[in-house]
Amino acid sequence: MKKAIILDLDNTIYPVSSIAEDLFTKVLAFLDSLADELSADEISKAKEDMKRRPYQQVAAQYNFSEVAKSKGIELLKNLEYSLPMQPYEEYKYISDTTIVKFLVTTGFTKLQWSKIKQLSIEKDFKAIYIVDPEVSSDTKKDIFAMIMSTHSYKPSELLIIGDDPESEIKAATLLGIDTFLFDPENRYPNALVTYSSKKLKDAVPLFS
Ligand SMILES: [Mg+2]
Repeated sequence: MKKAIILDLDNTIYPVSSIAEDLFTKVLAFLDSLADELSADEISKAKEDMKRRPYQQVAAQYNFSEVAKSKGIELLKNLEYSLPMQPYEEYKYISDTTIVKFLVTTGFTKLQWSKIKQLSIEKDFKAIYIVDPEVSSDTKKDIFAMIMSTHSYKPSELLIIGDDPESEIKAATLLGIDTFLFDPENRYPNALVTYSSKKLKDAVPLFS
């Protein structure tokens, strides 16, 4: 029986595409400013990747210079989202359940908190953890392990719900925790997961 679930935020509780245009205006302008060091093709790929991956990973993947890397970090460190946001419609099926919930999300602390506030989801969670590579070297796997030891959960008593096979899904798998991959566009048909669905609400019967 599951005693708690751990959710990811970006592209799991709400679609990043819904805020990308407003949020990323400055970020996209910054990426465009890298035309000296990146090709047009790389810049457009980096822009897409920014919607799905932490900035530090994108910067590493496209070999940003040290100067560019820190310029981006300075920009993102101070960014907040201040417009109204809506969760995915099916998120309410999850928030309506009584199971204990944790939120574990990777990103810049200020930005992640501003999104949590705009989504009004703080009350849904027993605890919220922001994995911020600028603040700590802790990974999602470290946080999952800490939640397990703090609350004496066995791996079999937890379920991780997320959208990224390489992030929370991989971390949970390494710890022997069941995973639910929310994959609305069927991007990862071959991902190593316990459960996978295009519908977020398909996760509900797995823990309630
Ligand atoms: Mg995500």
